[in-house]
Order: sequence, then structure tokens, then C-alpha cells
Amino acid sequence: MSKASELHSLPKLDVSWMAQAACRGMDTSIFFPDYEKGYNSDNQAKRQEALAICGRCPVRTECLDYAMASEPRSRVMRNGVYGGTDEVDRQKLGRKRKTRSA
Ligand code: SF4
Repeated sequence: MSKASELHSLPKLDVSWMAQAACRGMDTSIFFPDYEKGYNSDNQAKRQEALAICGRCPVRTECLDYAMASEPRSRVMRNGVYGGTDEVDRQKLGRKRKTRSA
């Protein structure tokens, strides 16, 4: 399945908050560094830039909730910066949430 068709096959979630996103219209490569080239300084710089943008985003909570709801169903959503978190942050958050709900 292609990345585009995978995203389109996700369950419909409310995405009206995206209109207020601080990243709207920005270069998405900042939020999705090419990790196939490794965790190099360029990727780290992009990650830090993306996290700084998220830090001033009015819909950070909605974005993180969207990412957490979508990740289990989408490989695409597992990568990149969403809601002021990177993929490692979200894995940790997911484990915490599972522990709390158990
Ligand atoms: S929290 Fe970050 S990734 Fe999410 S909408 Fe805002 S700026 Fe974009």
C-alpha cells in the first residue's frame, strides 16, 4: 500500500483543528527528516526546528491526539514530529497510556 493510499484509508477523525496549525504551509521535510540517512546533525537540526514550531502551536494537543490515534493503524504516522513529540516520545507515551489503562 502506498503512503498516500494508507493515509486515505485511515478512519475519519476530526481534523478541523489543522486550519490553525502553526506548521500549515511549511516545508514538511522539517517534520519528517530522512532517517534512512541516519540520525545525523542535519536531521537533528530539523527535528529541533520542528519541535520549536510545535511549541508555539495552538493545536498541539489535538495534533498529538490525532497522531496517537492514527499511529497504530498507519506506518506513515509512526514517523516524524507531531504535537511536539517525535516517534520515540510517542512510543513512550503510548506505553504509559497502556500501563495506566491496564
Ligand atoms: S503541533 Fe506541530 S506538527 Fe502538530 S499541527 Fe502544530 S506545528 Fe504542526
